[in-house]
This record gives sequence, C-alpha cells and structure tokens, in this order.
Amino acid sequence: MTAVSSVSATQAQAVADNVQVHKFGGSSLADAFCYRRVARIVTEYAGASDLVVVSAAGDTTNRILAIIAARQQPGDAAAILLQQLRQYQQGLIEELLSGDLLAQLMALSEQDFNRWQRWLDGEEEISRNAELLAYGELWSARLLACLLKKQGIRADWIDARTFLTADDAPEPLIRVEMSRQALLQRVAPHTGTRFIVTGFIARDAEGNSLILGRNGSDYSATLVGSLLDVRQVTIWKDVAGVYSADPRKVERVVSLPTLDWREAEELARLGSPVLHPRTFQPVDRERMVISVRSSLKVENQQTRIGMYQHTEPRGKVLTSLADIALYRVELSDKALVDAFESLDLTPLVSWTEADKQQSYYAFHQNHQDYVQSWLDRVDKQHHVTQINGYSMVALVGNRIQESDEYAEFKRQLGEQQLRKLVVSERGDSVLGLLEQKLDNRTLNRLHSQLFSYRRSLGVLVVGRGNIGSAWLQLFNQQRERISQMMDVRIIGITNSKRLWLDYNGIELHDWQQDFDRLARPYVLSELIRELPNAPYDELVMMDMTDATAVAQLYPSFFANGLHIIAANKRAGASSEAQYREIRTIQREYKREWLYNTTVGAGLPLNYAINDLRNAGDEIRSISGIFSGTMSWLFENFNHDVKFSDLVLEAKQRGYTEPDPREDLSCQDIVRKLLILAREIGLRLDWQDIDVTSLVPEALRDVPLQEFMQRLPEMDDAMLQMYKKARLDSRVPRLMASFTVDKQDHVKAQVGIEYIRDDDMLSNLIPGENIFVIYTDWYSEMPLVISGPGAGKHVTAGGVQSDLNQLLGKLAASNQ
Ligand code: ADP
Ligand code: ASP
Ligand code: MG
Repeated sequence: MTAVSSVSATQAQAVADNVQVHKFGGSSLADAFCYRRVARIVTEYAGASDLVVVSAAGDTTNRILAIIAARQQPGDAAAILLQQLRQYQQGLIEELLSGDLLAQLMALSEQDFNRWQRWLDGEEEISRNAELLAYGELWSARLLACLLKKQGIRADWIDARTFLTADDAPEPLIRVEMSRQALLQRVAPHTGTRFIVTGFIARDAEGNSLILGRNGSDYSATLVGSLLDVRQVTIWKDVAGVYSADPRKVERVVSLPTLDWREAEELARLGSPVLHPRTFQPVDRERMVISVRSSLKVENQQTRIGMYQHTEPRGKVLTSLADIALYRVELSDKALVDAFESLDLTPLVSWTEADKQQSYYAFHQNHQDYVQSWLDRVDKQHHVTQINGYSMVALVGNRIQESDEYAEFKRQLGEQQLRKLVVSERGDSVLGLLEQKLDNRTLNRLHSQLFSYRRSLGVLVVGRGNIGSAWLQLFNQQRERISQMMDVRIIGITNSKRLWLDYNGIELHDWQQDFDRLARPYVLSELIRELPNAPYDELVMMDMTDATAVAQLYPSFFANGLHIIAANKRAGASSEAQYREIRTIQREYKREWLYNTTVGAGLPLNYAINDLRNAGDEIRSISGIFSGTMSWLFENFNHDVKFSDLVLEAKQRGYTEPDPREDLSCQDIVRKLLILAREIGLRLDWQDIDVTSLVPEALRDVPLQEFMQRLPEMDDAMLQMYKKARLDSRVPRLMASFTVDKQDHVKAQVGIEYIRDDDMLSNLIPGENIFVIYTDWYSEMPLVISGPGAGKHVTAGGVQSDLNQLLGKLAASNQ
C-alpha cells in the first residue's frame, strides 16, 4: 500500500483533538444483554466520531482455539464445537437485530460459517490460525455496528487488517507510519460516524492475518489511539478499574483512583490480565491518559493511568501467577546463556547464582510453548533443566523499597517457601518466586496483611445433624459479636451425601430449607482440593459428624490449609500411629486443631488442663465418669429397677448412641480417655487400656434388634453386682482413669468400680460428668470439674468456644 497523503495535517489534528478511543473486551460482550449495555455506553459516553475497539464476544477466541485443536483429532468434536459457535454467534444476531439488518448480517454470518465448514471438511485451506482467530473480532465489530445503526446511530465497522500493518514476530512490529496513514484515510473524512474496530488482529505486508497476542485488544486500543494521537483511551472492563488485587481471586479489594504509567506497565509485564503487556508501548505519555472503568457499572469509580509518578511510595497492587515456566542453565554452557540473553522474549525475572554456576529464567506460563519450541531449536542436546511447580507473587508500586508494604511483603513471604526475592530494575515491583503452588487462600491472607484489611475466615460445616444444626443457630445469634473479631462466614454446609457451597457466605435465616433446595451431591475428598481457592484468609472445617471417613481426611484438610474444629472423636482417638501422623501433618502445615467438645462436651476441661500445664504443673491422674449415658444409667440404677428397662428408657430419650452397645461396651469412654491422655502428651493406644465391657459375650455380635430384645439377659449380672456393692455400703459406677508415675508410665483403665455411697462420685445428677484431676500442685485435694457432659446446646456452646479460641490464635499470629 502506498501512503497516499490525502489526509491533511489539519484534518489529522482535528481527529487528534476530537476523537477518543474506547475498548470493550470479551467479557463486556458476552451476551445480547451485554451488547445492548455496550451500545448504550457508546451512545452516551462516547463522542459522535469516537472509535470503539472490540474483542471477540465472550469466550469466542477460546472456542476457536478449541475447534482448531479438535480438528487435529479424529471424531466429530470439531464439528460439534463449530456448530455451538455458530449457534452462539447467530443467536446474538437474532436477538439483537431485526428486519433488513438481521437478514443482511445473517447472510454474512452464513457465508462465514460455510467457509468454516469447508475448511473443516478439507475443501478449503485456511493455513493460518490467525485468519481463523480474526473471525471472532470481526463478528463482534460487525454486530455492534449494526446494533448501533438499528438504534439510529451513525456507525460503521473497520477490519483492522485494512489499516494495521506489522511484521510477524512473537510481538509483531507495527509499521507505524503506514498504518497511521491508512487509518486516517479511513476515518478522517467521516466525522460524525462512530467506527467499531476489530481488536487483536493486524496484517503483514503481504496481507496475511496476524494476531497481537492473547488479550491483545487492550494493545489494539492504545495503538489505534496513538496512531490518531488522541488524548484519551477508555478501556471498559468487567471491573471498575485496577484494584489492589485480582477480584476473582481476592476478596475485599480496593479500586485505585490513579496509577502511574510505570506501575501499570510493570503490572502488565508481570502478567496481570487486567491490561495486556504491550498496552503502554505505543503511548505518548505526555499526552494520553488511559481510563479503566466498568461497563457493567458505569457509575462506579475508575482508574486513570497517567503521569502520577510523584505520589508517595506505596505498594499498590498484588499480582500473582499460579504457574510459571522456570529454566535453569549451567553457566559453563556459554552458547546457551547467550541464546537466553538474546531471546526475543523478556523473562519475568532472571538471575544468576555465581556460586553454583547457574542462571535461571522465569517466564509466564503462556509463553512456555514459544520458549519450548525455541529451545527445541537451539538446545538440541537438552542441556536446559525445566523446573516445575513454582509460582510467583509480586507487589507493584513506584519506589517500592521505600514503602511500608515492601517490608511487610518480605516478612510475610519469609514464611512461605521463598526461592528468590527480586526488586525490578526500575524499583517499581518486588517479586517473590515460591517453590510451591500459590493458592487463593495464601493470596488473600497476604493481601489483607499488606493492606491491613479486616481478615476473613471461611467456615465449612461438615455434618448438619443435632450438633451441627444447634451450632449454626448459635453462630447466627452471635454474628455481631464474632464479626467484631474477624469477617467470619459459613461457606459450606454438608451432610453425608450433599453439599451446599457458596463462597460469598451462606445466609442462615432459612438455611434448612435452602439446603434442601440448593445442596448437591459431592465427594468430600474432592471438595478439599478445591477449597484452597475459596477467597478467604483462613479456612476452618467444623467436623460435627461421628464419621471415621471424615476423620481419615484430617491430614488432607491440614495439607490444603484448613484448620479443624472437631466434635468428632474419631481422629483424636484413632490408633497411636494414625494419631501421630495427623499431628505431624497438622504441625507441618501450621494449622490449628481444636476439639474441646470431644471430652465432657462443653465443660472447660481441656482449658483447665492446658492452663495448668502451660503454667508448669504436671498432671498425675485423671479419673471420673466420662460418659453422660453411663452416669444416667448408674445414678438411676438400684435393686428396684431392671437395668434393661433403664437402657430402653435411655435409648428412647436419645441418651444412648443408636446402638447402646457403643456406650455399654465402653468404646466411647475409651475414646475420651485416649484424647485426654494424648492431650497431656502421653503415648497411649487402644491396647494399653484395660477395659471391661458391660455387654455379655453372647450379645456382642448379634443384630441390634435382637440385642434390644435380649437386653434382659444382662439384668441378673447387673443386679448381683449392685447387691455385692451394697454389702459394703457402696454403689457400682462406670469409671475411667489414668495415672502417670514419675517415670511417665501410664496405667489406664475403664470399667465398673465400687464407690462408697457418701463419695461425691456416687451422688451425681443423672447424666452428669465428673473429672477428678490430681496434679503436682493439686495433690492433697483434687481439682474437680463436673457438670453436663452431653447435650446439643452445651456441645454447640463448646464448639463456639473453640471458634473463639481459633479467632484469638489467628489474631495473635497476625501481629
Ligand atoms: P476483557 O474484558 O478486557 O478481556 P479481562 O477479563 O481480560 O478483560 O481482564 C479483566 C480481568 O482482569 C478482571 O475480571 C479481573 O479478574 C482481572 N484482574 C486481575 N488483576 C486485576 C486487578 N489488579 N485489578 C482489576 N482486575 C484485575
Ligand atoms: N479475543 C482475544 C483473546 O481472547 C483478544 C482479547 O480478548 O483482547 O485473547
Ligand atoms: Mg481480555
């Protein structure tokens, strides 16, 4: 093309003075509703001669890439995907247009898709993917222009390949003068027409299609803006500007009213999707301002990017990449080091470790294919080592090292597996390379620590039975008080089969009905892996079940960053080996595990024990009646009642486990004893405890129903036991105890003991628990804690106390 200078300098100046550029990305054009909203913005917020750059609608570019990939595979996947794309695109046309415009655009669309079909069938060759990708932008530009025309607005559309010429490269080089002239010729004569221009695409000197890189339309917009030398480019997004972090990953982000060019540039360089890395390349910074604002909520605040370099040094934006491509090269391989240094793609960060004679280069994951194919050419012997599993997090802000946030960022990352901390050459970012995947929980935590927001805790409630429901009710009542400490929200409620998950926080008013409506089948082990992405600083799983299957997953909960509050005894009372493993993982991942209610329900037993031990006391023995069920049975038992009748009554009143043998065999008491002993650091396993079960041998393995029928078989032995005790003015009680001697030898037992009838142990209220604690300090007279050791309200209260405790610990760990 020859540069016909038919556009005068005056005309060009008029364009520069009167025209602005707007850009709408795919998410602003996802459906017909979005298109209408964009059309309204273009009429109300854009001038009559403004240019509007558009991306492909919704995820069209991804769909096209999927079709290209599927075409290589056997089967009809590509044809199905193409059909879906056709439906999506033509659906938009049908919904938005009518009459002649509809007929015209449908005819064009049919032509395009017929060409695609021929390509798919091998009847027509389209060798360049860029040409296929270009359709996405072409369709949205054409449709938006027609929609505006339909609304009576003077509008037309331009295929950027008619004016934007570039030389092919990973980052195509724009032929600026040629492109400027061509664009001016197209737009200058048409004052009063709004032009919709395709983003993302350009052409080479031969007229072949080129693309400007994924998300390249931001760049197209500033390119068009600078070719015309306009003063302002407005980039309309689904976010109201640039925020302190990606709002898809982090809660409670704040929008920044201004951002300096260099900061925005650095943010884009580090791979933040909010702006394409090349967006700022073409810009005359003295003249142009870029505004980033929301097409969804136009009234919201916006971010202006311009010359704001003299503001206070401050860490402003946290940005991260969950995966990066990291390469290591031996310095001895000089040719390879030189090759990396001259690669036409700048790494995110690179450094040399002179002592180990190695250099490292880290790239954005999106560039991995390019680097890999380049390596296949220059490194045939495969001397380069690729290191996987690394992630990156960075804080952007001019003069970063002078900011308070810099010190905090360093401090916080010190706790992570930090491989390298690098301040950018211009001092406008600090980047941490982590030897681990970075999940959203860590990111949220870092964000709130840096910007000192109120921290948040997401709560997953596993088990919505008696205790779970009672606790949810209690939690709801106490919301106000809790929220003064932290932003605590219920993010999920489950029963054994279904899960209701909502990361925004579940409204608890009618949660039972809502659960029935909204809960979906789930697999707990799979859910755990997904949870680290919940946008909270901290997460806790409340185990309100009695399930071994849940207890077995504790290591996985800890490893995925959750704390645990448990009313479930199964993990605390698992085998010694399993228990050690859970503890090891819990400590390794620095998570909390609170289980105050597993022994004595709400009674402040473990608080007393821990308090004494923390103050330097040693526990010597704990004995007592640990089971509310057994307490109730024996306090009511005498020679006038049959033991079997009492068991039946207790079962009817819901005091026993569904199978009363759980209680009568003393399993439940053994669990509590194990938990208590382990709490004070003793190694104790099931076989170390001397247990006498009350269930006669013959009834141990029979079905529940049969057991209930044959209960009276216990009566005789129980009566004999009672009578024998009375001879000595005593009564039988089901006691548990353990004693530790000075050499730390433990003696633990559970079974019937005969207690003097004037002893406090034989005069409890039915159902009452009692714990008699001897320590070095309480040696003459024991410390006694007694009260109700079961019941949903006291247990829910105990769970609440654990939550309180957790909040306190989290607050302390944040200081
Ligand atoms: P477009 O509609 O222009 O294609 P993108 O979806 O590519 O927009 O980019 C906008 C997205 O960038 C937002 O939805 C947001 O999730 C993400 N993003 C990442 N970091 C930030 C940040 N610091 N501020 C605002 N948005 C961000
Ligand atoms: N449609 C292109 C993409 O998805 C360009 C853009 O959205 O900016 O990458
Ligand atoms: Mg985009």
